[in-house]
Amino acid sequence: MTVTIDKKLFIATFGCQMNDRDTEIMAQLLSRSYARTLELAEADAVIVNTCSIRAKAEQKAFSLLGVLRKYKKKKPEMIIAATGCVAQQDGRKMISRMNHIDLVIGPQNIYQLPLLFDKIRKTRKTTVATDISPSFSIPPFLPTMDCGLPHKRFVTIMQGCNNFCTYCIVPYVRGRELSRSQEDIVAEVRHLVSHGVKEITLLGQNVNSYGNDQEESQRTSFAELLCSVAEIRGVERLRFTTSNPKDLSDDLIRCFVDLDNLCSHFHLPVQSGSNSILRRMNRKYTIETYLDKVEKLKEVRPDIALTTDIIVGFPGETDEDFQATMDLLEKVRYHGSFSFIYSSRPPAKSCEFEDTISQEEKKERLAIYQAHQKEITMERNLEYVGQTMEIMVEGESRNAEGQWSGRISTHHIVNFTCAKPLVPGRMLMVHIDEACYNSLRGTLVDG
Ligand code: SF4
Repeated sequence: MTVTIDKKLFIATFGCQMNDRDTEIMAQLLSRSYARTLELAEADAVIVNTCSIRAKAEQKAFSLLGVLRKYKKKKPEMIIAATGCVAQQDGRKMISRMNHIDLVIGPQNIYQLPLLFDKIRKTRKTTVATDISPSFSIPPFLPTMDCGLPHKRFVTIMQGCNNFCTYCIVPYVRGRELSRSQEDIVAEVRHLVSHGVKEITLLGQNVNSYGNDQEESQRTSFAELLCSVAEIRGVERLRFTTSNPKDLSDDLIRCFVDLDNLCSHFHLPVQSGSNSILRRMNRKYTIETYLDKVEKLKEVRPDIALTTDIIVGFPGETDEDFQATMDLLEKVRYHGSFSFIYSSRPPAKSCEFEDTISQEEKKERLAIYQAHQKEITMERNLEYVGQTMEIMVEGESRNAEGQWSGRISTHHIVNFTCAKPLVPGRMLMVHIDEACYNSLRGTLVDG
């Protein structure tokens, strides 16, 4: 018997891949009652998956929640839910501010969604579910494969963080580090590859400390986990994100020697080039130890592409501190970086720090940093010209027939022409002819 699902669910996702993953889980948990829609106007339920890492993302989520008031007026039975970091942080305050919201639910509580939606439908009572339980463990999750299969997937291996970097709210809103069991992760990866997925990215707020919360007798390190996933038949490419450099172990560096399917890309967020700023950020590494790890990585994988995150204008950042960041950029010559002006996010500790740098000064520093990174990225990209490299096909351009793109192991995009239809996930060899700032251009060698 086929069940007709006539109710529609719209989910808006802000922020990082952890939120993308939660969105996928929520859609699947509710799929017995709701089909996904991309049209807000036809939705019977809306979930706004919020992010509070920067003020802009938070404002965007609140602005959408505000817009939903008029939809609810037209359709009073509509369920409006808010989740993600802002929901966890604000809890009941969100409902006092916007009384058309029915449910505020923290990321750890999303597994209760079907139950809570049922309850709200029956009682129409507003509900807040933001408790973080010390005994919580991440339930097993096997994604359904019925919605057009992508060739690459993220697999969450842990959530939360114990590090309390002074500018960061993750430990407050996502709780302490919680690792999924190795068996669950391996089972999910096997399930994915058996359905044709070829590239796996292991995901967590600080993957390098995977397993630290597990009992010693059953503990698996991140390097061990990586090895067990890499050996699953069908995993053609393996990536991971994101890492605190302090937890980058020699065993993990060794994986770049031993595992052929581990991609040549490492996103290693440094945040600042100044030891005094790193201390005040509570990052627990120095530039010297960071550079030592960078050197080791380059030694074992000479073609590795390094990318990073940079915060410019952290409270108290002097000209010398900023210059140290510029010197670091020059030393490592990152292939790319995500750089931002410091943004004060309560209850992070740095909100109490005296901030003496003007916004103008911060903007100027960011512009200087980004301009130099741009030059280096271009120079780095030019190094690929003339090489023949393996790409994994991503898909055809929406705008031009016969124009395709793929990614090399370092995560760079390569655009190329092919008259024949190609399947995303296929591996092909491409000769790199040209480099632009955002991508490379190549010619198929064996197409
Ligand atoms: S390690 Fe990352 S997630 Fe954890 S507190 Fe620091 S910046 Fe936030």
